[in-house]
Amino acid sequence: MLAKPPMNAVSQPRLRECRDCGQFQLVPTLPPAARAQCLRCDAVLRHTHHDPLWTQLALNLTALLLLLIAVPSVLMLVSTAGQTHVADMFSGPVGLDLHGMWELAAVVLFTTVAAPALKIACMLYVLIGLRLPYPPRHIRTVFAWVEHLRPWSMIEVYLLSVFVAYVKLRAIVFIQIGVALYALGALLLTMIAADVLLDAQFIWEAMERRGIPGQDVNSAGVTTARGDAIGCDTCGLVSRAADNRSHCPRCGFRLRQRKPDSLRRTWSLGIAAAILYVPANVYPVLTVVQLGAGQPSTILGGARELLGAGQWPLAALVFFASICVPVLKLVGLTILLSSIHWRRRDRLRDRTVLYRIIDSIGRWSMIDIFMESILVALVQFGALVTINPGFGAIAFAGVVILTMFAARSFDPRLMWDAAQAPTA
Ligand SMILES: [Zn+2]
Ligand SMILES: [Zn+2]
Repeated sequence: MLAKPPMNAVSQPRLRECRDCGQFQLVPTLPPAARAQCLRCDAVLRHTHHDPLWTQLALNLTALLLLLIAVPSVLMLVSTAGQTHVADMFSGPVGLDLHGMWELAAVVLFTTVAAPALKIACMLYVLIGLRLPYPPRHIRTVFAWVEHLRPWSMIEVYLLSVFVAYVKLRAIVFIQIGVALYALGALLLTMIAADVLLDAQFIWEAMERRGIPGQDVNSAGVTTARGDAIGCDTCGLVSRAADNRSHCPRCGFRLRQRKPDSLRRTWSLGIAAAILYVPANVYPVLTVVQLGAGQPSTILGGARELLGAGQWPLAALVFFASICVPVLKLVGLTILLSSIHWRRRDRLRDRTVLYRIIDSIGRWSMIDIFMESILVALVQFGALVTINPGFGAIAFAGVVILTMFAARSFDPRLMWDAAQAPTA
């Protein structure tokens, strides 16, 4: 942590609870472009930036514009034997729905269109609301929801899956790239920049300075005695647990010392995902029907086909994202859960890093699902060649979503608690 009080400070000293290890510590005054890390587990407690509000406004306006270009435009155009099909971002979900897989269609639509659009819209609403003479009170709830939407916005995974679909399609049809793909590429870069340059605490503090009603916390962050402090999981505010408060005075979300029922929930979700992993790999995720003959293909089969076509980097990518990542997540979560059960005191930092990896890589497994939605939407050439989705895809999407929920319901602070608890 930085100790010197800088001249051009952008933040006030605040008491914070580390989300990864539960340690309460005072984050000092920081200059722009500075980083404060947890003394115990190295988690980033705060990362300040130059002119955070204007940067966010500019990046989110650009993202909105790019999304408005990408959504109605042509993503890909495929043709064979005189027939042509055009796909946009909605074609995948529509194609899956036509094959009776509305659950999968809903997941693809939410993660590739709805969640990114909502995230950008909420950010703009908050940033513009903050500039109004009387900012609306509910912008704090809207900003809190941005935090919860973040993991479900998967533009970057979608873009990679479009690339894999392109390589697969090139083998069977003539294919052209549309405007939407370029817009998505630019949108991806803009959204990554917005995430990297976001100092959420600055926006929360800007709301406090604007005196948005319902806040009585201006000094709570510094003065609260550490013994009765409770940190908000959503906005990071530390308030006094002794006041019998059930909701955070700043963001309005529920306050709790640790994620509720964390161990039981993580075990249940993990076991359910492990069971679904079997049908996800045994049943075909798609079937290519070429001249009347069907070739069902499992996830592993898909990777093998890419390898056979000489596309070994993409084969390795699909194999890693779809086969290895779910297994690594489940094995990793089992190691973390067991370490709490056995009250292990060693390698706490390493285990915390393992948790961060598990929490961040799960989304990449969606590559296969997104790719399939594009193939199903585009390759419908009647008796010539048609691609149909298989039951394995629903099971696989179930695995990805369940493991994501399992990782989110795990509370890494419990590992640090267990290591400090006196042994019976
Ligand atoms: Zn920590
Ligand atoms: Zn809060």
